[in-house]
Amino acid sequence: MTIPCLIVGSGPAGYTAAIYASRAGLQPVLLEGLQPGGQLTTTTEVDNFPGYPEGVDGNQLMADLRQQAERFGTDIRSGLAVRADLSHSPYRIWMDDDSELECQSLIIATGASAKYLGLPDEQKYRGQGVSACATCDGFFYRGRTVAVVGGGDTACEEASYLAGLAKKVYMIVRKPYLRATKAMQDRVKGMENIEILFEHNTLGLYGEDGVEGAHVVHRMGEADERRYDLPIDGFFLAIGHHPNSELFAEWIKTDSQGYIVTENGSPRTGVPGVFAAGDVADPTYRQGIVAAGAGAKAAIEAERYLAALRQA
Ligand code: NDP
Repeated sequence: MTIPCLIVGSGPAGYTAAIYASRAGLQPVLLEGLQPGGQLTTTTEVDNFPGYPEGVDGNQLMADLRQQAERFGTDIRSGLAVRADLSHSPYRIWMDDDSELECQSLIIATGASAKYLGLPDEQKYRGQGVSACATCDGFFYRGRTVAVVGGGDTACEEASYLAGLAKKVYMIVRKPYLRATKAMQDRVKGMENIEILFEHNTLGLYGEDGVEGAHVVHRMGEADERRYDLPIDGFFLAIGHHPNSELFAEWIKTDSQGYIVTENGSPRTGVPGVFAAGDVADPTYRQGIVAAGAGAKAAIEAERYLAALRQA
């Protein structure tokens, strides 16, 4: 059976698209992907999503959105889309269990994923001291010493979260300043067990059965550098994200960073009936509420596209 509206991704964009599409009678199928609920499930308190005056736990917010999508009949399926053929309609998507789906319209809401530095040791110690999600893994570092790499809002958020659990948190920041907003900067600077290592880079990690430390370099100008070992138990990456657009990049336009390029601020891609919403197409705002709004727009566009198809 050809699915009228297939939604790939289960963050705020995907679920909001599903709410709108199911209420419009498009019988949407939503593929949850690798991380059901998306990036917000890796956050603790979300204070800036409208409608929650006291803030809301990220997992709870996503559970609420999922429930709302289900209430209107969205068919939510687990599994990962691994291949796509958007050369002609109906469009085809292959899943990781080799099953194949056909759809008339497609909403790409695959979000973005954490970036790594690219050090071989990150792979070596993945799950053994290396993490890109403090709220997922911070629990294991209670009373211990950890480092967070990055100087943006995410890094500050992760560092302050970890500071509530760990004995000591180092922030490894490559510039002589933080890029984070002032409020976040003030927060980390105000926490006694956070130490910011400015102009520092990580060269590698060491340890027998897990991370026991990082080889770091402190560069103070061209000729002045000091290399030393920083004993830590956990190494957290918080250096930004890259859009999960690879699957579709053969068929739709992406920019130099891989973000899907849409038409004039709409969710329309260059392929008729294929729409993109949320962080996968948003290099600028990358906020849950913005993604949710984009998901609503994508579903409205899908509805119009399918109506035009029926009339043709
Ligand atoms: P950002 O791109 O803002 O920051 C990335 C940080 O990582 C920068 O300090 C950057 O350094 C550093 N970095 C990047 N690559 C490397 C590398 N190879 N080695 C060492 N350091 C590196 O990403 P964020 O994820 O922090 O934030 C993304 C967006 O989401 C922002 O707009 C942010 O404001 C927003 N956000 C908002 C939150 C909130 O409002 N609660 C929470 C989290 C994010 P450099 O400065 O040198 O480039």
